[in-house]
Amino acid sequence: MPSIYLDNNASTPMLPAVWEAMRPFVAEIAGNPASSHHAGRHARQALESAREQTSAHLGTDSDEVIFTSGATEANNLALFGLTGRPPARLVASAIEHPSVIEPLQQLRQRGFDLDLLPVDAAGTVQLGDLERLLRPSPRLVALMLANHETGALQPVAKVAQALAGKGLLHCDAAAAAGKIPIDFHQLGATTLTISAHKFHGPKGVGALLVRRRTALQPQLHGGHQQQGRRPGTEPVALAVGLATALDLAMRERAARWQHVTRLRGVFLEHLECHAVPVVVNGPREDGLPHTLNLSFPGCQADVLLMNFDLAGICCSTGSACSSGSLLPSPVLQAMGVPDDLLHSAMRFSFSHLLTEDEIIEAARGIGEVVRRLRGAV
Ligand code: PMP
Repeated sequence: MPSIYLDNNASTPMLPAVWEAMRPFVAEIAGNPASSHHAGRHARQALESAREQTSAHLGTDSDEVIFTSGATEANNLALFGLTGRPPARLVASAIEHPSVIEPLQQLRQRGFDLDLLPVDAAGTVQLGDLERLLRPSPRLVALMLANHETGALQPVAKVAQALAGKGLLHCDAAAAAGKIPIDFHQLGATTLTISAHKFHGPKGVGALLVRRRTALQPQLHGGHQQQGRRPGTEPVALAVGLATALDLAMRERAARWQHVTRLRGVFLEHLECHAVPVVVNGPREDGLPHTLNLSFPGCQADVLLMNFDLAGICCSTGSACSSGSLLPSPVLQAMGVPDDLLHSAMRFSFSHLLTEDEIIEAARGIGEVVRRLRGAV
């Protein structure tokens, strides 16, 4: 049975070059980057050069990069660290990842007001709604750069302009980093989240970019590391892995993009033969080509997931962080996707490591499952 991995938004395979760069810091160099002996200095040098490489690719300065355990921690640090005390108003798009939505719901329980920005049928925040919600200025707006379930790109730079420095802006770029160019200073966000395992780096490391002179309340206490903002011994090998993976992603960005765009087109074309009707949820053209959210009317998403898996195809019914839940995707609900499509929606996410033959084989297998399930109804 083939194993075809179409769940790259949940996590990507780590590249061999990334492991090679990390290996000495896992297996050989024992130093703590805070120690002043030569082993410590060696570790610190590697950590700081990873920080510099990361910042250079993201249009920021190295002292604005805080390594975290991933995007969930970075989002929590930003949201709890920036908001201060209630009362105040917070605004977020209705399609944020649970690691943004759930901290915001906790802040609401602590006395903040929370307004959610609606999205259009393609899953993009509408600027008209935004201007209404930005008067008077909220204390903080959270808007992701690209959506993890549909690939829809969000107008973060425009929101930053509309806020004109009167409110803080947090941007979860976990689904976008390594895929589109990010210039943190130009974007105008106060904080921005990335996660290495989304771009072929190791699991367990991410970063929060924080604009210089931003008041950020640490969420952990007990050390001075990373300017006291995220205390704890820095994960040197993981930071090296993140920086190496980001470097590769940015160097190969255009070629990867082109390849993934072709795969997406071939996949859709073959599905439209084998599994018609198929409905695209989200942007058809101008989103991230890596993500394709499709509904198979007449089928049940959880049954599809199980049968695709039996046929050797890995994909998902939504964000991995909400999988296991049988509730329909809040992202697709916010887009106004009708019930039948909502309950038959699957997310396929691609990487440059896939081949066209694998994609064609996956579409064939999916077609077989879908036709069988539809016939059984
Ligand atoms: N934000 C987005 C947009 C994501 O797609 C994910 C991963 N599902 C996260 C945050 C959480 O990332 P991590 O696994 O690094 O905590």
